[in-house]
Amino acid sequence: MALRFPDVAEIRATFGTTLKSDLFGDPGIASRVEMTKTMFAIRAWAQQSKTAREIIKYVEEADQEVLIVGMKKGGYTCFSSDDPMIGKGVVYFDFDARFATKQANDTQAVMHHYIAFLHELGHAKQWIESPLFFNGSSMNTKKFATDLVAASKKFWQKKQKITYGQAGTLLQHNNMRLTSPSWAVRIEMDNLTRHEWPICDETRTPRRLGYTDLIST
Ligand SMILES: [Zn+2]
Repeated sequence: MALRFPDVAEIRATFGTTLKSDLFGDPGIASRVEMTKTMFAIRAWAQQSKTAREIIKYVEEADQEVLIVGMKKGGYTCFSSDDPMIGKGVVYFDFDARFATKQANDTQAVMHHYIAFLHELGHAKQWIESPLFFNGSSMNTKKFATDLVAASKKFWQKKQKITYGQAGTLLQHNNMRLTSPSWAVRIEMDNLTRHEWPICDETRTPRRLGYTDLIST
């Protein structure tokens, strides 16, 4: 089983410094019992979505280990590869957080927090499939990242009929982020198109338009 729920003592020992950083703000940690119950609930919820079930199955059956750090009342939502341990992925998730997505005409739609969790698990799946996306590789250079951002801005500029600058703002990665590496446009678009949007469609949840259109509520 590649999914592992470390206990509170292990989380404190392994991730203590990270969790106490400004980014996480020293949140409460979910116990293994709480996480086991939560995962049971997520599995039950995922029955309505083929894509959600496939993501869970893929990560569970992989050789690589993915640790889940469940947080309460604070914390952060992100996936981290190879940090703090090379060769391991970590999903950080605040299970008290609730989310909405920006929709057209300045309206908002509720997004179930399990979809946000499955988004992060989607990143774990991407990392298992294509570690070079995430790890230091010849592709992962500043030039490559710059080209990706430029291409992505052009794509959204055209798609949403907005200026290049507005597309840049749209792409600012300010709600859900990856801790490592910081370039993430390609990864986010791949995760949205192959994982999150199909889950939204299968569960009749309105999609977010761009990956910065997620709001904590
Ligand atoms: Zn993401």
